[in-house]
Amino acid sequence: MTSSDQQRRVAVIGLGIMGSAMAANLATAGFPTTVWNRSPAAAAPLVELGATAAERAEEAVRQADVVITMLPDAAAVTSVMIDGPVLEAMAPGALWAQMGTIGVQATIDLAATVQSARPDVLFVDAPVSGSKGPAEQAQLLILASGPGEAPGVVDPVFSAIGRKTQWVGPAGAGSRLKLVVNGWLAFLVEGAAEALALADRMGIGHDQLTAAVDGGPLASGLAMAKLAKMDSGHYDPEFPLAWALKDVDLCNDEAGEPPLPVLAAISQQWHVAVDQGLGREDISAVRRALQPG
Ligand code: NAP
Repeated sequence: MTSSDQQRRVAVIGLGIMGSAMAANLATAGFPTTVWNRSPAAAAPLVELGATAAERAEEAVRQADVVITMLPDAAAVTSVMIDGPVLEAMAPGALWAQMGTIGVQATIDLAATVQSARPDVLFVDAPVSGSKGPAEQAQLLILASGPGEAPGVVDPVFSAIGRKTQWVGPAGAGSRLKLVVNGWLAFLVEGAAEALALADRMGIGHDQLTAAVDGGPLASGLAMAKLAKMDSGHYDPEFPLAWALKDVDLCNDEAGEPPLPVLAAISQQWHVAVDQGLGREDISAVRRALQPG
């Protein structure tokens, strides 16, 4: 990173699992970083790392060259950024990187809103793949899309939080690809959960199942990590199930008719799990929803 890259002032709005890790890496990398969260306590550890905590979201963005939003869904992004009104408070010519997973149509609508309300602001659709660990280790995959001049502005910032930025076209394209990636992830996690449930029902030990697949073509890093989490029975959230289900439902909306049968079944199954109170647990808690009885 050159010293001029480092002078980019960054604001991070939304300090949950992902936003707090991203803000920590930005502050540590030397970017002047201002943070805001609905519940202010989340900002305290970031202030320790050199970030500035803003009391209001519009204060956080006022001086920023790059504004990152890491909020759960379209309703939250709209309420903070549009109704806030935080978009209005952004600096002239600043860039907004919308990095939560909020769906394709909502992203296209937001891009249009920015274009009409703040045509000077560069809107970048940049959802990420990778969970709590990769976010903490600055190893996210960033699926970015937006105007042609955006990479020159935001790539140094993305480099401080990700291992790779894949630019894929105009805003909406990143969200489109992200949903496909998370549809795949849903299959892997439900697959691991059901394989483990089947092993339990057949009297096969978890260590035997792990030894049979580990190092072979079935063992994706993600599936093995979630298998280990299911085996441990500890479901502290890395990727909260409620947000994974949001993504599966966004996938099913995009798939249209006829439905993709297994993705539709995963949605049904995970709605049951969330209704059982598992939404704030890790996605691997879908194993708990398969207990007999
Ligand atoms: P999270 O830990 O649940 O954090 C959500 C954040 O959004 C919190 O800071 C929360 O504030 C804030 N928030 C929620 N509703 C709000 C509202 N109406 N107004 C203002 N602030 C609001 O979520 P996360 O895991 O970081 O995920 C954020 C986004 O990234 C989601 O779209 C998710 O799908 C996506 N994502 C997550 C992962 C992952 O593995 N965790 C990976 C890739 C992408 P409070 O603290 O006040 O509740």
